[in-house]
Amino acid sequence: MSERFFIEHPPTAAEVTFDEAESQHLAKVMRANVGDVVVGFDGRGTEYQIELTSIGKKKVIGAIRSQAEVSREASRQLTLAVALPKGDRQRWLVEKCVELGVARLVPLLTKRGVAQPVEKAIERLRRAVIEACKQCERNRLMKVDQGQSLEEVLAARPAASFLMHPSGETLHHDSILPAKEVLAIIGPEGGFTDEEVAEAAEHGCQIVSLGPRILRVETAALAMATLVTAVPGP
Ligand code: SAH
Repeated sequence: MSERFFIEHPPTAAEVTFDEAESQHLAKVMRANVGDVVVGFDGRGTEYQIELTSIGKKKVIGAIRSQAEVSREASRQLTLAVALPKGDRQRWLVEKCVELGVARLVPLLTKRGVAQPVEKAIERLRRAVIEACKQCERNRLMKVDQGQSLEEVLAARPAASFLMHPSGETLHHDSILPAKEVLAIIGPEGGFTDEEVAEAAEHGCQIVSLGPRILRVETAALAMATLVTAVPGP
């Protein structure tokens, strides 16, 4: 069985009880049988080979046959602070960020932002992270923070920090290549205000452009994610 199953709490014993959603998936959708071996992951870097020992409609239990730390993380730690788009585009953004190996997504509160990162929305996005990790075989969950202001994001910024802006300076590879940790800040459809851009520049962010076209929020985020994560790190 090639599917992967999420184990919310790292197992403390040799036995694993899958939660209700994963159990239902195993029992109903996959029609798993006792003796089948499935792959589980705990979202913290460990992958498990689990032999199923009991199948209930809402409770599937298995025995851990082996476990290993398997890292499929990107070579640079990328934090994307993004003024989230609305509706389905949020979920799509999260899925692609997980696939590309983004370490952390911070819903950014901006002057012209449209989507409010309320608790329920954040929970939905965290669920989407798990689904994407199952599919792309990532063993460590991408973190999704609570909403933060630009000020908060800037206060914790690493040396290599970029605010993406259509009228910024051309982005050069050289400013990304040596960095182990990168922050990229992406604005809402209405763009950043002049004050927001000035604030980021004052804090030492590079104000950079990805070319002369206006990109959607998610396109800008994924273009940056690709640049930062695909090329081997220092
Ligand atoms: N009318 C807005 C466009 C916003 S597009 C403006 O002129 O700023 C939404 C966000 O995507 C922007 O705030 C920026 O962070 C990013 N973005 C879009 N196109 C970009 C480009 N060509 N270069 C860098 N960032 C871009």
